[in-house]
Amino acid sequence: MKKLNNFEIWFVTGSQHLYGPETLKQVDVDSKTIADAFDASADIPCRIVFKPVLKTPDEITQLCRDANADNNCIGLITWMHTFSPAKMWIAGLGLLNKPFVHLHTQFNRDIPWDAIDMDFMNLNQSAHGGREFGFICTRLRKNRKVVVGHWKESKVQQRIGAWMRAAAGWNEIQNMKVCRFGDNMREVAVTEGDKVEAQKQFGMAVNGFGVGDLVAVINKVTDADIDKLVAEYKDQYKFNVSKDSMNSVRGSARIEAGMRAFLEQGGFKAFTTTFEDLHGLEQLPGLAVQRLMAEGYGFGAEGDWKTAALVRTMKVMADGLDGGTSFMEDYTYHLDPKDQKVLGAHMLEVCSSISDGKPSLEVHPLGIGGKTDPVRVVFNVAPGPGLNASLIDMGNRFRMIVNTVDVVKPNADLPKLPVARVVWVPKPNLEIGAAAWILAGGAHHTGFTKALTAEHMEDFTEMAGIEYLLIDENTTIPEFKKDARINEIYYMLANGLK
Ligand code: MN
Repeated sequence: MKKLNNFEIWFVTGSQHLYGPETLKQVDVDSKTIADAFDASADIPCRIVFKPVLKTPDEITQLCRDANADNNCIGLITWMHTFSPAKMWIAGLGLLNKPFVHLHTQFNRDIPWDAIDMDFMNLNQSAHGGREFGFICTRLRKNRKVVVGHWKESKVQQRIGAWMRAAAGWNEIQNMKVCRFGDNMREVAVTEGDKVEAQKQFGMAVNGFGVGDLVAVINKVTDADIDKLVAEYKDQYKFNVSKDSMNSVRGSARIEAGMRAFLEQGGFKAFTTTFEDLHGLEQLPGLAVQRLMAEGYGFGAEGDWKTAALVRTMKVMADGLDGGTSFMEDYTYHLDPKDQKVLGAHMLEVCSSISDGKPSLEVHPLGIGGKTDPVRVVFNVAPGPGLNASLIDMGNRFRMIVNTVDVVKPNADLPKLPVARVVWVPKPNLEIGAAAWILAGGAHHTGFTKALTAEHMEDFTEMAGIEYLLIDENTTIPEFKKDARINEIYYMLANGLK
């Protein structure tokens, strides 16, 4: 996975010639000071590149052209140190196709009450300069994040950092190739969708491949490749496998090596499988999928390409953060009225990046699929905050639904459950959380993460220009229904406002 510090965010300051060379020189110095501080901040994951202060429409337009053309630049921080008459920004913002955040800060934190004079007033004009810039962004219907506060505050830097992670996800999905082994699980609705519209909206290319083509690559895997992987399994997991099941383990390693080779060869970053289309595969890929996800691949089961792309995007956004991100499914409920919670799992395919401790590698029969006993790693997930995200196709738009959750300990050890699992309480509780999710049409498949917050997900949807519905501790059903209804009208009309 390309590390986030390989990407550039350009620090762009708006001004004008009115102030004279002395003031503009100071604006330049101040901007560079902030850019350098951000670049050195642990809360800022990308490289910050200072750009000389913009004073004319031509300079602004050229800067936006340069940003569009630079593959390493994934977004802009804009700051109005002084007043930058915003008609100067119309042409540039009109053609800018990179996301931007409006940093509404002032170089001097405090008003020097005893010493303040017109020089201070002349230099520190963000309070009104930022409003002029805000007007033109809103007038042009430009989606952007606005972050207010002093630039040295860690909360300000964290919010900029969150936006940057979303920008990295946006960059990723625009260049993503998603590989589908087989098609959709027959008759399933939510995993379907318009792939042409998805490519138009997100940039990702989603294409299908015959399982036979994958099997041909798997059959070329050598015994030496398999030996190497089995040695890794013994090293990385508690290896709870009987002698009789070693053939299953070797079969799983063969599938893993073949899948990895296929995905690398095609430049794919996300993939899907489906248990209804395993022709020529010895077993349903379980461990192989778990390990490929842990390496950074996005995955969706039963042909779910939207969730596969989402999981990959979330993994890129979470690069370097603690917690892990996985494909997930709301599997079964605990409905004790005093202790309502969800057990999330899948048949096999949960990413070991969310494991609490060393996973246990096991081989068990699987009723679904009609193949040899599949290999999987089994683990629990540590308590703490997390979220589930679902991307659905509403027909006229894509909708992202996010539900924040508290991961909790299972009520017992689950000794007979042979799959990785995570137990959570949705916000604000299961009764409201699940009702809102279902009213919104959220899928049973999700991208689950303990690394990202709702802020990351919201920032991403702003960049993608898609609908965002959040279910959190403040959600009530009447308000949620109202939001969803207003969104129906908004998205019907929004294209006419451009
Ligand atoms: Mn499923």
